[in-house]
Amino acid sequence: MMTERIFLSTPHMSGNERSYIDYAFDSNWIAPLGPNVDGFEKEIAEYAHVADAAATSSGTAAIHLALQLLEVGKEDTVFCSTLTFIASANPILYAGATPVFIDSEDTTWNMSPVALEKALKDAEQKGKLPKAVIIVHLYGQSAMVDELLAVCERFGVAVVEDAAESLGSYYKGKPSGSFGKFGIFSFNGNKIITTSGGGMLVSNDAEALKRARFLATQARDPAVHYQHSVVGYNYRLSNILAGVGRAQLEVLDERVLARRAVFNRYVEALGDIDGLKFMPELEDTYGNRWLTTLTLDPQKISIKPEEIIDALAADNIEARPVWKPLHLQPLFAENQFYAHSTDKVVSEKLFERGLCLPSGSNMTEQQQTRVIQKIQQCLGVKNSTSVSK
Ligand SMILES: *Cc1c(COP(=O)(O)O)cnc(C)c1O
Repeated sequence: MMTERIFLSTPHMSGNERSYIDYAFDSNWIAPLGPNVDGFEKEIAEYAHVADAAATSSGTAAIHLALQLLEVGKEDTVFCSTLTFIASANPILYAGATPVFIDSEDTTWNMSPVALEKALKDAEQKGKLPKAVIIVHLYGQSAMVDELLAVCERFGVAVVEDAAESLGSYYKGKPSGSFGKFGIFSFNGNKIITTSGGGMLVSNDAEALKRARFLATQARDPAVHYQHSVVGYNYRLSNILAGVGRAQLEVLDERVLARRAVFNRYVEALGDIDGLKFMPELEDTYGNRWLTTLTLDPQKISIKPEEIIDALAADNIEARPVWKPLHLQPLFAENQFYAHSTDKVVSEKLFERGLCLPSGSNMTEQQQTRVIQKIQQCLGVKNSTSVSK
């Protein structure tokens, strides 16, 4: 008999989603606007401590809109974290601009302020600063926000915060996504809360978000006869899905606690293994631990992450490597990359050694025990965690 499948991260509904969906049906707002969209935007803006939020059909669309608002075009470059999901950088290509990738540093796995500064100095010397820097908070871990913002400010470059994975995380007491000129969230099915698909663009510049809503609804000029002067998009979120988001947002803090509990349990069971290191949490920050991630030191552990992934897969458990750095992707083979230091490419090391474990907020203890025991078995560690059946 095949054992029950354990996924990396699955949707976790609260039950209250249906009442908001009913609200959409009862009022016949079956459209990419309506009271749930308005409500969801207001509630996200409050949660993220920003002036305004615009709901979008995806996180990718929100990044694209941010780049449009910053007037990124064909001749421009945009800097982007290299250790991230492709969606962070695809909108740079939509805008016809050229991405330049920035390495990670060890403490957060996120953008290295050292590499960023080097890249900006180079760009300044060439007389061509980037139009924007896209900073990612990977797996819910805050990047070194103060340092990165200080560098960007010194060069006068706008920041877009890709907080797709870090909704519910805090940096020095302030919500993730609230630091850049623009921040974006994603409500894709695998994220910490979900609308099945959806996103949000946030900013303290309410005028810019007004423009975002205009661009996201086909850029209709104020005329009854459908007049258009600029390129627009169909990027708004459905009122039905916004309803799902409103109910999900009500339980976001609980979901964060659940993910952190999953992380803590992994640490309790596996944390003593020599050479196995969990992603640290930057001082004075609070991460949502969207995914529990770790690295295996090849000097101390002979088994490779991909062998553990295969062993888990054989037991019907989904695990993944850490994101393949974008500067290693065939799509970006021609693009520039700035390493953290000349002798060390941190993102490549993390990719080679990294492992993401099932981390859903709805994962049972019994399911987690299965994952833990399999990993212990792979690493030849004595089994001390009992399965409660
Ligand atoms: C999921 C994700 C996105 C894109 O969000 P979608 O809603 O799926 O378009 C962007 N950046 C990162 C880092 C993500 O993980």
